[in-house]
Amino acid sequence: MSDTVRRSPAPAAVTGSPVEVAVRTARTAYDSGRTRSLRWRRTQLAALERLLAEAEDELVGALAADLGRPAVDAWLADLSSTAAESRYARRYLGWWARPRVTGVPLGVAPAVGTWRPEPLGVVAIIGPWNYPVYLTLAPLVAALAAGNTAVLKPSEYAPATAAALGRLVPRYLDPQAVTVVPGGPAETQELIGAGVDHVFFTGSPEVGAKVMETAARTLTPVTLELGGKSPTIVDASADVAVAARRVAWTKLMNSGQTCVAPDYVLVHRGVAEEFLAAFTAAAQEMRRGDLAMRVVDERHAARVRGLLTGHGGRVVLGGDTGVTTAGAGDLAGPGVDLTVVLDPDPDSALMREEIFGPVLPVLTVDSMAEAVDFVEARPRPLATYVFSRTRATVEAVRDRIATGGIVTNHTMFHVLVPQLPFGGIGRSGMGAYHGKWGFEALSHRRPTLHKPTWPDPSLVYPPYAESTRKL
Ligand code: NAD
Repeated sequence: MSDTVRRSPAPAAVTGSPVEVAVRTARTAYDSGRTRSLRWRRTQLAALERLLAEAEDELVGALAADLGRPAVDAWLADLSSTAAESRYARRYLGWWARPRVTGVPLGVAPAVGTWRPEPLGVVAIIGPWNYPVYLTLAPLVAALAAGNTAVLKPSEYAPATAAALGRLVPRYLDPQAVTVVPGGPAETQELIGAGVDHVFFTGSPEVGAKVMETAARTLTPVTLELGGKSPTIVDASADVAVAARRVAWTKLMNSGQTCVAPDYVLVHRGVAEEFLAAFTAAAQEMRRGDLAMRVVDERHAARVRGLLTGHGGRVVLGGDTGVTTAGAGDLAGPGVDLTVVLDPDPDSALMREEIFGPVLPVLTVDSMAEAVDFVEARPRPLATYVFSRTRATVEAVRDRIATGGIVTNHTMFHVLVPQLPFGGIGRSGMGAYHGKWGFEALSHRRPTLHKPTWPDPSLVYPPYAESTRKL
């Protein structure tokens, strides 16, 4: 890979909407050629890690203001996860970017075939509000590692974090190569249509469809990291106490507002009571008896509370739809009761919509085949979790369920493994990232075939003799 830095063209005129200016600036930086150098890429990633370390207090404060997120949670879920992704990419990007030499078929010889990953150009990165640092900057790691420039559009529902990113990114990173634009749907739509080379979107399937529709008009490729209802299957052979504790922990994390949170549980009838008792005990202990959970805003709280009516199931924990606030001191805000609903109607809104909040439906099943059929009859989930000590159950989940990812005997932890691709399938997403998978998603694998001018036999040119067909 060339380390040459081409001369930058004259700066583009700074007229137009903020989106136009951001895209033009990122395009000019890309066209300068400097992002192709591996040294530039590593420098940018190191600068991103410095940003996360030095501006930790500023980012933690913004996450508290937006989401009521405690400092430890902010560090674990947003800051350290992003830094780990960056360190991993910085270490391996030279290997991922290496040119490869291939063999060629006899009919093409003599020739040398090579290919190498090339950057795509300007990548638009559209973030959600639930982990607004990690889910905006981890895709940026992939974009920078692959030698692209980027325009970030953080979520308008995490405004303090969006503003912090707007201040910090130009201070630490190449300010032409990575630009930040604020805004909501209108600005995002403008960005998608503004001549970018790739759209990396994280958000809901409904908005993902709108993003893809707009991108289709200009044949702009998309990566869609979406959501859905990720099931957890607990069979009769499972360590039920461990299953309940792990599901409780990860459902409570960010009050269930996590794309890979366990959305609902399918538990074997024989261990259902034991699971419910252990889940309740674990959740009560983790919450110190306080079931009111802080969610992002009142609009979201009202939506989640709305799922608690007309479900036809039995409420076995929580269920108070009058809860309006949660959290203490500076972290207080709109709240929803941590709620468990046993055997809701499978056709209710609670079982059709992604919950994205602290509500756990638990459905009893008589066999693992029934559990697998239940999941398979619904849109493909982003993740599926299975707690079992029976190999046949684990194999049935692995072989029969089409799902973005699988974790056995835990939930969600595949997200933290940069060696594993992360992404959905069907309605839960398109494409994957993390580690080299993100590098590949934002690279073009470009072949080059080099032919010598000799030999140049006349029999390869028309008109052909009849005997040529048999060669
Ligand atoms: P969202 O889809 O409402 O918003 C995401 C982004 O899209 C925001 O930046 C928003 O400004 C923009 N947007 C909103 N309407 C738009 C429109 N009409 N056109 C273009 N852009 C538009 O998602 P959210 O509420 O921020 O996040 C929750 C959803 O995201 C859940 O479904 C969750 O499962 C999913 N999610 C997925 C992942 C993943 O990695 N797969 C991670 C986090 C969240």
